This record gives sequence, structure tokens and C-alpha cells, in this order.
Amino acid sequence: MTADDARTAEIATALSTVRERLAAAAGAVGRHDGDVELLVVTKFFPAADVARLITLGECAFGESREPEAGRKVAELATDPEVAGLLADGGIAVDMIGMLQSKKTRSVARWARAVHSVDRTKIADRLDADARAALDDGVRRGPLDVLVQVSLDGDRSRGGVVAADLPALADRVEAARSLRLRGLMTIAPVDGEPRRWMAEMAQVRAGFLRDHPDADALSAGMSGDLEAAVEFGSTCVRVGTAIMGSRPILSQ
Ligand SMILES: *Cc1c(COP(=O)(O)O)cnc(C)c1O
Repeated sequence: MTADDARTAEIATALSTVRERLAAAAGAVGRHDGDVELLVVTKFFPAADVARLITLGECAFGESREPEAGRKVAELATDPEVAGLLADGGIAVDMIGMLQSKKTRSVARWARAVHSVDRTKIADRLDADARAALDDGVRRGPLDVLVQVSLDGDRSRGGVVAADLPALADRVEAARSLRLRGLMTIAPVDGEPRRWMAEMAQVRAGFLRDHPDADALSAGMSGDLEAAVEFGSTCVRVGTAIMGSRPILSQ
């Protein structure tokens, strides 16, 4: 077995374990696992690993750092088949990490969705940058946006507090080149994921009364995907459990 094949086999094994966890979590609460998208978080891992995941049938990826992400997408697109899939939505890459305003322009060119919008300024810039990308023909449709909610008020991981959610959501909804898709959260790591996910479900219920079509909930990572699925997640973002551990500076 070559080194390449060994890495593919390693990822395949971890992937099937995660897919089993997802199916079990969905089944436990009477949901279909097909209703929960698996976003494989590939930050810090090379484009070659993303290519391996594509050969294993994965089509949705999460990246959290620019310019790493934009470079990786460009590298993937050097394969004409992958370029075609990226263009027609057969493969999608989402931005899930905190976003500085100077990075919005490039992100608006490669991302299907941004999960981490938590400020008016970022929403406005993404709207303008998505419009420019549409005009340039590098995007085919509006940029999907999920508003990130901070459940514990610790803004260092990003997110708006629930009280500020309505105004930001209305802003995104009104933006011409953005499409409000739903909410995202990163549960505090305190050993009580079900408590946080239950709280998220409550916030979401209120949000859905104003935005019934924005029904996406991006919640759940390697350590808490079961709790997230139990409380309504429609998209889990899983890195470590599939890719292995990242270098320490990613934490
Ligand atoms: C890195 C990252 C993940 C993946 O976390 P794991 O614990 O490695 O599964 C999910 N969401 C966001 C926003 C991330 O930055």
C-alpha cells in the first residue's frame, strides 16, 4: 500500500464511523440521517485530502481560514472534473470561521455559504462582494448566509447574542445578493452539549417565526454531533473525528 492509499483508507474508516454516529443520532430521535448534511471540516489539511474525500463520495466541506481556503479551492479546481462540480454545486465549500472584513471579497467568490456572519458590517460587505462576484460570473447564485449565535455571550468564538439576532437577520434578509438560510452555533465546551443545544433550539424557534424559510441549523462538531442532531441540527461540521487532529494553533 502506498502512503497515499494509507491516508485514503484512514480517512475512509473515520468517515464511516462518523456516518454511523450520524445515522444512530438521527435514528434515535426519529429523523433521517439524510436530513442532516455532513460538512467535512478540512482546515489545516491539504487539497489532496479534500480530493480523497471527493473520491469517497463527500461533497460538502467546511473551511475556516482565508487565504488558506481560497488557495485550496483554487488548487482543487485545477482538476477539470472537480472544477465542473464546484461550478455546478455538485461540490460545495462553506466558510465556517470568523471573518475579517478584508477577507470578504475572496470568500464571496468561492463559498456556497458563510456560517459565521455575526456583524452588520460583515453582512453588508458580503452582500456587495457577492454582487460583484455575480456580475463577474464567478458566482451563479446568491451567497447563503447563516447568522452565528453566541449562546454564552463569549464573543471570542464569534456570534451574536440572541437579543441582537433579529436586527442582524433582518439585515441579511434584506440584502439583495445574500440569502438568509438559518443559524449556526458553536456550543461552549463545558461538558453540557445537550443544555446548549436545547437553548439553541429555543432561540431558533423564535427566529423561525420571523423567518420560516431560513430553516437551516448548523450545529454539532466531532464532540457534540449527537446532541446537535437531537435538537434539530441540519448540518454538522466535523473535522477531527474524520481528518485526525490538527496542529495546535488551530484551537
Ligand atoms: C474547526 C471547526 C469545526 C470542527 O471541529 P472538530 O471538533 O474538529 O470537529 C467546526 N466548526 C467550526 C466553526 C470550526 O472552526
